[in-house]
Amino acid sequence: MTDLNAPGLAERLESVRSRVAAAATASGRSPSDITTIVVTKFHPASLISELHSLGVHDVGENRHQEAQAKAAELSDLDLRWHFVGQVQGKKAKQIRSYADVIHSVDRSSLVDSLASSESTVDCFIQVNLTDDAARGGVAEPELDQLVESVLAADGLRLLGLMAVAPLDEEPRRAFARVRQLGERVRSLAPDASLLSMGMSHDFEDAIAEGATHLRIGTAITGNRPVHG
Ligand SMILES: *Cc1c(COP(=O)(O)O)cnc(C)c1O
Repeated sequence: MTDLNAPGLAERLESVRSRVAAAATASGRSPSDITTIVVTKFHPASLISELHSLGVHDVGENRHQEAQAKAAELSDLDLRWHFVGQVQGKKAKQIRSYADVIHSVDRSSLVDSLASSESTVDCFIQVNLTDDAARGGVAEPELDQLVESVLAADGLRLLGLMAVAPLDEEPRRAFARVRQLGERVRSLAPDASLLSMGMSHDFEDAIAEGATHLRIGTAITGNRPVHG
């Protein structure tokens, strides 16, 4: 049964928007410098339509087949599709065909698969802040080399860095590390100054450390449907 007192989608979106604005202001930043991407994985396309009618233009997905189907179904809406999941090399070209921004470039072989002489796609390099290689993202010692390979590739425009805060570290400290790595990237690629970091439970910390792109799921969408 639906709990009639539970806040709905519009209320949750509004609440996140005001928290984003408050956190930006508290850090002396302009809320307009921060893009909130609503991560809609596991939710139906109808939820994305609803978000669109509430003024959302940036949506994030992490699984290729699901993202591809939703992007096709909603192709008449002006949405920007952000791919935030791990990219398999053999799916790279397909993901590139509907994604406006790929947040998870994490290895040179993927750069080769994504390169194109016909069009340009925006991308972030994902950095792994843990010691667990399975979590996705390039290890810090290999970051500079990956930056160079993105810069050398045709058809990729490097926006900056993406990261997920580890479970065992205070998010604010983790995001401060990303900010520092971002400065290093900027010394190699002056235009790559953006930071994709901050999720439902840590976006205020991310804003305090300079996040420009937040990837927020459940705080806006509510719990994800069970899948199997
Ligand atoms: C699912 C997901 C998010 C959003 O997570 P929430 O905790 O629901 O806000 C952000 N980034 C990535 C890479 C994700 O896979």
